[in-house]
Amino acid sequence: MKNTLLILLLPLVLLCSCGPKEKADLVIYQGQIYTANPQMPQAEAVAVAGGKIVFVGKKDRAKTYIGDDTKVIELEGKTMIPGFVESHGHLLGLGNFKRNLDLMKVNNYEELVEMVREAVTKAEPGEWILGRGWHQSKWIPQPEAMVKGYQIHDALSAVSPDNPVMLEHASGHAIFANAKAMEIAGINAKSDVGEGGEIIRDPQGKPTGIFTENAESLIGRHVPRSSPQSIRKDLETAIETCLKYGITSFQDAGSNQMAIDAYKEFLQTGKMNIRLWVMLSGSDSSLLESWYKKGPERGSFLNIGAIKLYSDGALGSRGAWLLNEYTDRPGHFGNPVTPIDKIASISKEGLSHGFQVCTHAIGDRANREVLNVYEAAFEAYPDKKDHRFRIEHAQHVHPADIPRFAELGVIPSMQAIHMSSDRPWAIDRLGLLRIQKSAYMWKAFLESGAKVINGTDAPVEPVDPIPGFYAFITRKTLKGTPEGGYEPEQKMSRAEALKAYTLDAAYGAFEEKMKGSIEVGKYADFTVLSQNIMNIPEDQILNTEVVMTIVDGKVKYKKTVGKLSQK
Ligand SMILES: [Zn+2]
Repeated sequence: MKNTLLILLLPLVLLCSCGPKEKADLVIYQGQIYTANPQMPQAEAVAVAGGKIVFVGKKDRAKTYIGDDTKVIELEGKTMIPGFVESHGHLLGLGNFKRNLDLMKVNNYEELVEMVREAVTKAEPGEWILGRGWHQSKWIPQPEAMVKGYQIHDALSAVSPDNPVMLEHASGHAIFANAKAMEIAGINAKSDVGEGGEIIRDPQGKPTGIFTENAESLIGRHVPRSSPQSIRKDLETAIETCLKYGITSFQDAGSNQMAIDAYKEFLQTGKMNIRLWVMLSGSDSSLLESWYKKGPERGSFLNIGAIKLYSDGALGSRGAWLLNEYTDRPGHFGNPVTPIDKIASISKEGLSHGFQVCTHAIGDRANREVLNVYEAAFEAYPDKKDHRFRIEHAQHVHPADIPRFAELGVIPSMQAIHMSSDRPWAIDRLGLLRIQKSAYMWKAFLESGAKVINGTDAPVEPVDPIPGFYAFITRKTLKGTPEGGYEPEQKMSRAEALKAYTLDAAYGAFEEKMKGSIEVGKYADFTVLSQNIMNIPEDQILNTEVVMTIVDGKVKYKKTVGKLSQK
C-alpha cells in the first residue's frame, strides 16, 4: 500500500518541483520566436546554459530557469529566429571586397570610369587599382562601343595610364583590365588562353580589356598576393559583417591553406565569432592530397569537410555551360572550366576520404554533367550513403534533371537573390521558354523532394539574408517588380524560406542535429529581427533590420539605436 502511494505521488512531486536545479545563463522572452522546428513552430521563451538551448516553450516555465546570474533579454515584441546559416559565400572575399572599389551600384560605364579616376588620385605610383561588382547588362545607358556584349577599355585606360587596373565582374567570372595591366601581363594581339576562357577582342583582333573565366588569371596572377596581415584584416571585417546581418554560421565556398591557417588562429585566440564550414579549394591538388591524408576536421566553430569545384562560369559573362546555344549569342554554348574527368575523379576521391563535394554549376549542361559524375561516384562507393554532395547555384537545370537531385540525394545550393538581381537580363541569355521552365526552379526542387538551401554568394551579392528570404517568397527584384513576381508558381512559403536559410542550410553541412532550429540540445545561435518577417506584408520585408545576433548564447552584435532591454 505504502509503495503504491509513493508511486502515485512521485509524478506529482516531480511536477511540483520549483523549476530546474540548474539555472540558465540566458533567458529570452517577450517576443515572437520562430523555431524552424515543425513540432513546435513558435514558442514564448528560450533558456540557454553552457552555450546550448536547455528549454523552449512557455514564458512562465522559462522564468523558473532565472537565477541570480542569469541574463534576461526581453524582446519587446521583436522577432527571434534561429541564427541565419549562409550556405554559400566567400568569407575572405567578403572582407576583401570592403577594401577595394565597390562597383555594384555604378549605373553606367561613365560612373565606373569616374570612380577609377578618383582612385588614381589617391593611389601610389604604379599601385594596382582593384574593384568588383560591375555588371554591364545593368547599365543605363549602355556604352556606345561594345564587343560581344562588353565595354572596351579605352576610357578606363585614359584615366589610369600609369596604374594597372583590374575590376572583377559582379559574377566573379570575368575581369576588366586597363592597358597598363595588359602591358604588365604581356597581353598582345597574339596572346592565347586555350580552353575554358576567352580574351575578348575587337574585329581588328585587339584585346578589349575583358578576360573571362580561365583567362582572368592572365591578369590576376600579376596582382600582388594577399599578405597574412591583409588576410587577417579581411577575416575580421568579414566576421563583423556577418554578425551585423544576423549570420551565425557561414559555409565558405573554397579556401586555401593560408585562409585555413587564419581561421585556426582566430579560433585559438577567441576571435572566431561565427561558425564556419569550410570547402577546400579543389583547384589546388596538393591541398587536397594533404587533406585526404588527414581526413575531415570537425569542431563546433570550425569544420573542414568539403571540397569546392567549378564546372562552368556564369550567365552574366556567358560562361555558363548550356545544352543549347545562348539566345543572345548564337553559336555560343558557354564552356566547362574544369575538365569533367577531373571533377569525376575528385568526386570519387573525396567521397572515399569522407569529404563532401560541392561543385559550382550554373548552365543546364554543367548541371547534367556534374549529376552524371556524382552518380558514377555513388555507384563506385555504394556504402557511402550519407554523402550530401551539392551543386552550388543549380541555377539553370533541364526539367528532366530536376528530379535527379532528390533521387541521388544531391543538394541544390541556391542563391535566391541571384534571381532578383539577374532575372531581368537573364532572359536575354536564355530566352523565354528556358527561363520559365528551367531557371531558378526552387519550388520544383522542393516538390521533387530535394532540400533547397539558400545563400548569397557574397561578395557577388551583399551578404544580408533578408533580400534572399524576400526573393524566395516573392520572386521579385529588390525594386518590387514585376507585380506578382517572376514565374510565381516557383514561390516558396515563408516557412520553407526560413528553413532553407536555417535548418536545411545546416543539413547542407551535416549540422542539422546541432543547429538550424531552436530546439533543446542545439547551439544557442539566434537572430533577433526588428519586425516579424513571417507575417508582415511582403513589401515591408526589405525594411527589416537585425537588432541582435547571439552566438553560443552570447550577444555578439547589438544594433545601437534599437531599444531592446537587457537586465
Ligand atoms: Zn561562389
